[in-house]
This record gives sequence, structure tokens and C-alpha cells, in this order.
Amino acid sequence: MNWLSNIPPGIKNIFKKEDDGADTLWTKCDGCGEMIFQRDLDAADQVCPSCQHHLPLDVAARLALVFDNGQYERIAVPEPVQDPLKFRDEKKYADRLKENRKKTGEADAMQVAAGTINSATVVIAIQNFKFMGGSMGLALGEAMLKAAEVAVARRAPLIVFAASGGARMQEGILSLMQMPRTTVAVQMVKEAGLPYLVVLTHPTTGGVTASYAMLGDVHLAEPGALIGFAGPRVIEQTIREKLPEGFQRAEFLQEKGMVDLVVHRRDLKETLSKLVRVLIKERRRVAPAVTIPARAVAIEAPKAQTPAPIQLDKAAE
Ligand SMILES: [Zn+2]
Repeated sequence: MNWLSNIPPGIKNIFKKEDDGADTLWTKCDGCGEMIFQRDLDAADQVCPSCQHHLPLDVAARLALVFDNGQYERIAVPEPVQDPLKFRDEKKYADRLKENRKKTGEADAMQVAAGTINSATVVIAIQNFKFMGGSMGLALGEAMLKAAEVAVARRAPLIVFAASGGARMQEGILSLMQMPRTTVAVQMVKEAGLPYLVVLTHPTTGGVTASYAMLGDVHLAEPGALIGFAGPRVIEQTIREKLPEGFQRAEFLQEKGMVDLVVHRRDLKETLSKLVRVLIKERRRVAPAVTIPARAVAIEAPKAQTPAPIQLDKAAE
């Protein structure tokens, strides 16, 4: 051991490249601990061939998996105020943003794209866990609003892929304000009579679970995904009880009714496609019924208006 640490850094670097190459050839599965050949894992969309454990999937790979022919249009998101609190912990928040932008090549933790799933137009908002844990800040609020606006303008369903550690602490109260803001975005889509679907991926926690991630018409989840508000350790310490097996996992939540369906990644596109078709057909069938209360309001309206001019005439006399 000692003689290794005495090797000058320059010589170590000669061997470093080879080591990095070896790391990317094989990946250890978090589910069964087996070493999987990276090429096999890529071919299976990052699902372990031995135990079917779902490993994280990149934003680009996820979009390519769901959209027809892997083709889609990226929607630009308006840029919010940067670092409004001039926040600093161990690092400046501005520096953290810079680092994460360099690492991911994205402006923030949510990306918006439009395209077709089995020929049906959809808008997708997807969270990038690699960008500061997919945390919800001002930029994410902007992305959700933009996604909702585009969905309404194109009369397309909105699908959200959630993955988040929660609110972005570096933006303080402003990050918490994104909870009602994103809820308004979801409401816009629902008021336009369009489906809103949520796919909960590992992990979806905190303020994201407490807002738009739990407002879907249908909630899908990936197998084994951790979904909750507070983490299991915090809950255990608070209630001083041992939590049941599989607590806050997708399968457990399906059993309890918080998740509608746990879907294997290979079936995700087909499931989304079926849901979009059924929900759009359903909305069309429901549409005439929606106009009935509108007509009722129109009949009531003159009644409310008629007394006003009479009173005014009397007052004039
Ligand atoms: Zn495995």
C-alpha cells in the first residue's frame, strides 16, 4: 500500500486513462450486485438482465426510448433570475450552477420536449437527477409552465417524468413557491381538457411529490422507485416505529393506491401510448357534457342582470 502512495502523480496519470476505461466497460447492479457488461446494459435500456433492477436512465436516452424513432423537438425554456438570494453554503450557488451546467450540458434540472408516441402528439417535461438532484427551483417552475403552455397550444397531453430530491434549498422560499406555481401549470392542462400523466422514477421525493408529481390523471412508476415526501429514516425517527418492508417503494404504493401502475421500462412507451389514446377518446366523449353547465350559466346570467337596470331607472325618476 505504502509504495503505491509514493508514486508521483505524473506516473499515476499514465495509468489513469486505462482505469477509467475499465470502469465504463462494466457496471455493478445495485439490485443483485452482479457486474454487467455496459453494452448489454445499454441494449436493455439500463435494466439489469439478471434481476430486472432499473438503473438510472439519462434524459436523452429516456426521450429516445419514448418518442417515435427517437426523434423529438426540444422546447426552449425562459431563463429565470439567477441566484436571487446570492446564496452560499460550502460553495457559492452560482458556482454550483456553473458546475452542473458543464456536467450535464443543460441549463437546469428540467427539460421540455415535444414529439409523437405511436403517432399521437405529446409534450414531455423530464427531470434530470444529475442536475443538483433534480431539485425544484425557479427554473423548474418556468419549465413546467412552458410545458403546460405548449401542451395547451398544441392540444397535446402533458407527460412528466419525475425524479427529484425535492426543493432547491439554495433558492429558499422561492423554491417552495414553485409548488403552487407548478400546480397552476397542471391546472392549465386539465382546464383545457387534456390528459396529464406522471411517471414516477427513482427517486421522487420532497416538494415534487407534494405538488405536480401527485396530480396526474394516472400515476405510473418504475419498479423499485423510491417515492415519498420525507425519507424513511426521518419518518422512523419521528414516529419511533419500524417501517414495513418495501415502504415508499413503487410496488408498496401501488398496493396502497398512490400509484396506479408499476411499469417495466420495456413496456413504458406502449403503456403511455394506450393511456394517451384512451384518455383523449374519453375526453372527446365527455366534451359535450362539459358544455351543459356552461349553457346553464348563460341562462342564469340575464336573470342576474335584469334587476340592475330597473333599479337604476327608478333611481333616475
Ligand atoms: Zn441486477
